[in-house]
Amino acid sequence: MAKKIPFVTKEKIQSIIETYPTPFHLYNEAGIRNTARTLYKAFAWNKGFKEYFAVKATPNPAILQILREEGCGADCSSYTELLMSDAVGFKGDEIMFSSNATPAEDFKLARKLDVTINLDDITHIDFLEKVADIPETVSCRYNPGGKFAIANNIMDNPGDAKYGMTHEQIIEAYKILKAKGVKNFGMHAFLASNTVTNEYYPELARILFKVAVELKEKTGAHISFINLSGGIGIAYRPEQDENDLLVIGEGVRKVYEEILVPAGMGDVKIFTELGRFMLAPHGGLVTTAIHEKHTYKEYVGCDACAANLMRPAIYGSYHHITVLGKEDAICDHKYDVTGGLCENNDKFAVDRMLPRIDKGDVLFIHDAGAHGFAMGYNYNGKLRSAELLLQEDGNVKLIRRAETPADYFATFDCTEFGAGLAENAKIKM
Ligand SMILES: *Cc1c(COP(=O)(O)O)cnc(C)c1O
Repeated sequence: MAKKIPFVTKEKIQSIIETYPTPFHLYNEAGIRNTARTLYKAFAWNKGFKEYFAVKATPNPAILQILREEGCGADCSSYTELLMSDAVGFKGDEIMFSSNATPAEDFKLARKLDVTINLDDITHIDFLEKVADIPETVSCRYNPGGKFAIANNIMDNPGDAKYGMTHEQIIEAYKILKAKGVKNFGMHAFLASNTVTNEYYPELARILFKVAVELKEKTGAHISFINLSGGIGIAYRPEQDENDLLVIGEGVRKVYEEILVPAGMGDVKIFTELGRFMLAPHGGLVTTAIHEKHTYKEYVGCDACAANLMRPAIYGSYHHITVLGKEDAICDHKYDVTGGLCENNDKFAVDRMLPRIDKGDVLFIHDAGAHGFAMGYNYNGKLRSAELLLQEDGNVKLIRRAETPADYFATFDCTEFGAGLAENAKIKM
């Protein structure tokens, strides 16, 4: 059984806690760079390959900057994600705008920044033209419908997903866009999330490449890129096998040579929009056990809660937990590891076998680097934690400070309570 080991030691964490109290999210720069480099190696066969990091997974400028230095672009789907990516220095076609149910202002900003727009729906052609204009390069999001299966295993249910255009619609959309002067086309689909199989991208590529050939034949469009989007998962559980990017890249290359090259489309660039795979393993939520409780079950109460990492609460997701300093101790205690929300699903783990946990022990909750902090919220008046970066040189940098009560009350400044709340926010214990 593969063992999950935190990227920091207990000693390192203790020195960090002297400056930054728990809870906090900690990211590992070396790991992030390493994954980005492996991805580019896996797709080195494709001229023009680019990863557009899904900003929603870890929307922090310091993280985006690291990825930018590794040659990645940014995949945005909202106004603020566009603003953040632009501020980090991603320009023009270094940004992919893969939005849905898109507000007019978002499209206006996307056109102002001249980023690549990936249209979710055929009706968005008219909408985009009305609120801004149609650029020379446009991508369309495809949804094949039905069920998406790999070797008879149903992976997901695209027919139930709100995203993308039907087969007929995407052909029609290309024709309309071509008539409106579009010169370069892209294609995009996201059919299954958190896949832990090396077959997902190659299977998705097969579907997209076939439709791309059909689109070229039926509409005469020049397809310049095909975007395989996100969906490559990680091994959250220690017994799971990890995806192998090099095998995945090779699998896509084979399908590319089988379908696109013979159709005279050997110049198509492959893009990806990975989020989880790039960041999840390189971030951990660090929290202190502040209470133990013995009732009908054994509970450990933490200073972090679902507001810092909501995946276990909403999806029942598994996140591995290491009790720092007890890495090699036997897991002979069964615990529910909880946060302090007044919600019974606020549990990082249920019936988890762990070493004996004492008050003051520090827990490292693994694989929180993507869709972790990002999904945080303020329920029960809980404040968002800090985000820290463990740099390659071993130093730790604050890349987002923790929220304060003043932040939480800030948007009441338009009411008669604003001043009083601001005053109370200054109370120190
Ligand atoms: C969420 C999302 C991604 C990233 O998905 P992961 O599962 O994190 O890889 C990529 N593209 C789009 C359009 C998304 O919505």
